[in-house]
Amino acid sequence: DNILEVRNLKKYFKSKNGTLHAVDDVSFSIKRGETLGLVGESGCGKSTIGRLILGLHQATSGEILFNGQDICKMKKAQIHDLRKDLQIIFQDPFASLNPRMSIGEIIGEPLLIHKKVKRRAEINSEIRRLMDVVGLSTRFINSYPHELDGGRRQRVGIARALSLNPQFIVCDEPVSSLDVSIQAQVLNLLKDLQAEYGLTYLFITHDLSVVKHFSEKIAVMYLGQLVEIAESDELFKKT
Ligand code: ADP
Ligand code: ADP
Repeated sequence: DNILEVRNLKKYFKSKNGTLHAVDDVSFSIKRGETLGLVGESGCGKSTIGRLILGLHQATSGEILFNGQDICKMKKAQIHDLRKDLQIIFQDPFASLNPRMSIGEIIGEPLLIHKKVKRRAEINSEIRRLMDVVGLSTRFINSYPHELDGGRRQRVGIARALSLNPQFIVCDEPVSSLDVSIQAQVLNLLKDLQAEYGLTYLFITHDLSVVKHFSEKIAVMYLGQLVEIAESDELFKKT
């Protein structure tokens, strides 16, 4: 049961210096409830794949089937609806969280945009529930992103991503900007949430030690191409 199937995906960026093959004929699939680690050096095309899956880039060619529906063919309104099932967590939550919005507003915004909660009064209790789910004290509800440390900020990003109850989350370097001691806490949280909600993850990272214990399967990229895809155990036996 594949929740995601990427087929012959290409994304070329044109500039005055020529054409960059950022994603060059990549194919892979992810089973429901699984984590696929997507690894490779900086600049090899990992984030571009993440953004293509979110519908934030237009693919040059290829297919991205999510529950059998091709994201590459979707119109804006369908991409918008897709957010209920497919979310993203970014590397540096400080850069991705709106600095002018309170923590409560950031977590509650998708609920408002997607009208998941009908009454304003319900929103507050839902925001508090989500903060609880990610282990963030509700005393931060009126704080702003810059007032939180990196680990708590990432919990805000996770709570926001969870707010619409998605099936699939692209985790794009979710712990790379955090202290090593905090990394383990956030990874454990992601693991617990996966078990509890049956989430599927595409886990993007340049750090092999991070995915090693997190992903049962790992895809390795090099210069826009997928050069290997293997069970984590297999891959680490060889190296
Ligand atoms: P990674 O996530 O593996 O670090 P990226 O997917 O961010 O790699 O980038 C892959 C390549 O595509 C890089 O050479 C990067 O400079 C280029 N690239 C990414 N986004 C754009 C863009 N919007 N316009 C032009 N080039 C881009
Ligand atoms: P949409 O409005 O349809 O959710 P966007 O293009 O605005 O799409 O956002 C793309 C993704 O980035 C969404 O999945 C959203 O959760 C995430 N995102 C956007 N803004 C923020 C933010 N301020 N904090 C955290 N995540 C955000």
